[in-house]
Amino acid sequence: MNPHSPAGPAFTAPAKKQLGQHFLADRHYIDSIVRAVNPKDGDRLVEIGPGQGAITLPLLRQHPRLTVIEFDRDLIAPLTAAAAPLGELAIIQSDVLRVDFTALADGGQIRLVGNLPYNISSPILFHALEHAGVVRDMHFMLQKEVVDRMAAGPGSKVFGRLSVMLQAYCEVTSLFVVPPGAFRPPPKVDSAVVRLVPRDPSTIGINDRNRFAEVVKAAFGQRRKTLRNALNNVVSAEQFIAAGVRPDARAEQLEVAQFVALANAS
Ligand code: SAM
Repeated sequence: MNPHSPAGPAFTAPAKKQLGQHFLADRHYIDSIVRAVNPKDGDRLVEIGPGQGAITLPLLRQHPRLTVIEFDRDLIAPLTAAAAPLGELAIIQSDVLRVDFTALADGGQIRLVGNLPYNISSPILFHALEHAGVVRDMHFMLQKEVVDRMAAGPGSKVFGRLSVMLQAYCEVTSLFVVPPGAFRPPPKVDSAVVRLVPRDPSTIGINDRNRFAEVVKAAFGQRRKTLRNALNNVVSAEQFIAAGVRPDARAEQLEVAQFVALANAS
């Protein structure tokens, strides 16, 4: 069988642009996502934005218990019907940004999966980070350009605030690229699948998350300036010395650990 054969949805509903609906319709990429997630007995899988079930139903075939969070009411009944013969699907009809992952984890750990609505992908990432303590890992499809920024290291043109904020809390691995033709309707840009594994909180070393976020934001707010200028009102000369960071460096040259040191020095 052609690995790229179209994966017919269990049902079809017109795509709603305002909800970022681009449904995955290529079996090869669907299988690759399920393989990357590699669900095991006892895992608590939570999918964000199941849509027409392109990833949901293959996941259910491998792992017969799944929770999904979908905003679009029109998709709930057909999704329920399509999932019924395969396993136990718990559907939360809500904006994912309003879902408390810590409450959902109920004392355990959850694994997040999703072909995310691209218009709110960064807010979803930051929402997940707030609950990183209960998240074992995340497998997300996003615009490739965003995944490149998430995974970039110092010296790269796309290394920036998103890279530092995510890498401080998670191990970030870009897994594979997905072309527009794999979706119905096709998005305008390439997509990519990324894995995020939250770090053990005891190894992160950030004293104050708000202060860290403030330093990173200010440093990249004026990325062409030296840190001395970009962080003029945020980090003092003594604090640069205490952190062991050169004030004539630029934000894009610093390792994540150096941002942590700068934030902790103040
Ligand atoms: N997983 C499906 C697939 O791969 O074909 C659909 C992916 S589509 C890119 C994004 C999905 O997220 C849609 O089903 C959309 O309705 C849903 N969605 C959009 N905004 C949402 C929100 N704020 N909360 C939860 N789901 C949302």
